Amino acid sequence: MFHLRRVLDLRVEQVIIVGSGCAGLTAAIYAARANLNPLVLEGRQPGGQLSTTTLVENFPGFPEGIDGPQLILNMHKQAEKFGARFSYAEVTDFDVSNKTIRVMADDEWLETQTLIIAAGASARYLGLEDEERLIGHGLTSCATCDGAFYKNVPVAVVGGGDSAAEEALFLTRFASKVYLVHRRDKMRASKIMQERVFANKKIEPIWNTVVTKYIPDEKGEMRAVRLRDVQTHDERELPVACVFVAIGHDPNTKAYQGKLETDPDGYLIARHVAESKHPGVFIAGDIADRVYKQAVTAAGSGCAAALEAEKYLSELESRA
Ligand code: NAP
Repeated sequence: MFHLRRVLDLRVEQVIIVGSGCAGLTAAIYAARANLNPLVLEGRQPGGQLSTTTLVENFPGFPEGIDGPQLILNMHKQAEKFGARFSYAEVTDFDVSNKTIRVMADDEWLETQTLIIAAGASARYLGLEDEERLIGHGLTSCATCDGAFYKNVPVAVVGGGDSAAEEALFLTRFASKVYLVHRRDKMRASKIMQERVFANKKIEPIWNTVVTKYIPDEKGEMRAVRLRDVQTHDERELPVACVFVAIGHDPNTKAYQGKLETDPDGYLIARHVAESKHPGVFIAGDIADRVYKQAVTAAGSGCAAALEAEKYLSELESRA
């Protein structure tokens, strides 16, 4: 692991990459292989969303599928092999002025000639009372991280997309019963995932229903949820030991708000695949993708961002 202190001894970086999910690591592989010695600022949640997923069946080149964390580990090794450096420093601010590009990483400003922002997206929660306090006490967004703690007890998954389907299927390995609570009467998940969900006897979909309240026990651990049928408005209590929220993600754009262009939902706007409005600042992956959100599209945009950064650096050099 690269120590931030040593980074500070260096002058201006050629390429800083923020984020180490599929987009950031692909950018790191390309930039490192172009001898640009990139510095990857991984933040507190290295590996991005793939690191909390299970079998990835649709990444090209793996006919049997590959575990998300293994795929990330492989990309990390591949980037390191070509000279990428890694730090767990977290980027909290960003500044482009007087033709310099800087990021605040663990309270220190780092200067760079090019920046690739691939900070991804974070799991969304329901916004109910007591939510923050219950996270880790029967409320989570990561079945692969926490599923094994809930053996032979009923659990609920909230959502109707591919993530909810994947989480529900994974949880059937441990839980006695998996309720899939969805606000509509149709899943948005891909057909193959829906078929698997419906074929699994341990999964019971609860349609047209939302969670309105978490009900903890006297120790502060999840005991049940209050549900409301959105058509009949009937309310009932469902005993569950854990709620797995899988209702999508929000882009991690806090450090860039007001400084880069965003759409109304806060996604960064990338032009020509990977360009931002500032020369030298490039964008990749889910932080700018509200449509595809796939590992392979994130990897593709990471590649594009690194190639653009390389081109930009060559132009800078030829002007010098
Ligand atoms: P998603 O496709 O956006 O689905 C989010 C689900 O949560 C939707 O069913 C949505 O309901 C529901 N939802 C959103 N806000 C809600 C709220 N406040 N309360 C209750 N329910 C709410 O997100 P995702 O499942 O995380 O998938 C994101 C992308 O990653 C997709 O493109 C997906 O294909 C991809 N992905 C693929 C795989 C795979 O291929 N194995 C696995 C995981 C993710 P509505 O349906 O009513 O909008």
